Amino acid sequence: MAMNEGVLYVVATPIGNLQDVSARALDILGRVARIAAEDTRHSRKLLTHYGIDTPLIAVHEHNEREVTETLLDMLRSGDDLALISDAGTPLISDPGFYLVRAVRQAGMRVVPMPGPCACVAALSASGLPTDRFVFEGFLPARQHARRQRLEALRAEPRTLVFYESSHRVADCLADMAGVMGAGRDAVIARELTKTFETIKAGSLSGLVTWLLEDAQQQRGEFVIMVHGEVPAVDAAMDREAERVLVLLMQELPLKQAAALAAKITGQAKNLCYQRALELKKAN
Ligand code: SAM
Repeated sequence: MAMNEGVLYVVATPIGNLQDVSARALDILGRVARIAAEDTRHSRKLLTHYGIDTPLIAVHEHNEREVTETLLDMLRSGDDLALISDAGTPLISDPGFYLVRAVRQAGMRVVPMPGPCACVAALSASGLPTDRFVFEGFLPARQHARRQRLEALRAEPRTLVFYESSHRVADCLADMAGVMGAGRDAVIARELTKTFETIKAGSLSGLVTWLLEDAQQQRGEFVIMVHGEVPAVDAAMDREAERVLVLLMQELPLKQAAALAAKITGQAKNLCYQRALELKKAN
C-alpha cells in the first residue's frame, strides 16, 4: 500500500432511526473528499440532518462498474472516500461488492465503519438461536423459483434470515409454511427502529394468519427469521445401542436400563426408553 493513497471507508448508516449513526461514522463522512451513495437525494437528507456537506457521487447497481474506475483514480491520487447505502450496512443486500473488491485488488485500504444492519438487529431481538445463522437476503420474486430455494433450505439446521418487502411478505411466508412446515417457529421483525416497529413470533402458518388479518402489519420493511430444522427424533436406534440396551435390561429395571444405555451410547433417553418398552412387550 502506497503511503499517499486514499482509504475507502465502508460506512453503515441508520435503518430508520437517524440517531443510530455512530460518532465515528459522522466524523469520517464529514472528512472524506467524496461520499459514494446509492441514492444521492436520499443520503443528502441524512447528511444535511448532521450538517455534513461532503460532495456525493452516485454508485448503484447499474453504474457500479463504471464509477469504480473513477473512484479508484481518486483513491490513487490520495483522496479518502466513503461508501454508504440507502440504509444499514453497504454490501448487505446493497451495492458495493464490486467497488470494495476492486479497491482491495488494487492493493488499497478498505476500512469498515460498523453500525446498523437489519439482519443483525432483527436476530438480536428475535429469541431464535443466534449462535449460527444463514443470511439469505431476498428470495426470488417468482413463486416457482422462491419455492425451489426454500426446498433447498428446508433441512438447514441454522436459523434462516430473509429480507422481504411489503408487497411480497404474505406470499413469501405462505410459501415458507408450505415448504418448511406450517408449525415451524419463525419471527417477523417489521419496521425496526421506526415508529411502528413490531417483532412477532409464531408458527409460520400462525404468522401468515396474523398478517392476513391485519393489512397494517403488511406495511413497511421486513426481516423474516425461520428456526432451523429440528431433526425428528431418529426412529431407528443404532445396532450397537440396542445391543447395550438389551444387555442392561437383563440386569436392571427397564427405566434404569434405558437411562444407562442412553448415557453410554449417546442415544436419546426417550428413544432408548421407547425401544426398551417394545423389547419388553415382544418378549
Ligand atoms: N443494507 C441493509 C442492511 O444492512 O440491513 C439492507 C438493505 S436491503 C436493500 C433493504 C431490506 O432490508 C428491506 O427490504 C428489509 O427487508 C430490510 N430492512 C431494512 N431496514 C429495515 C427495517 N428498519 N426493519 C426491517 N427490515 C429492514
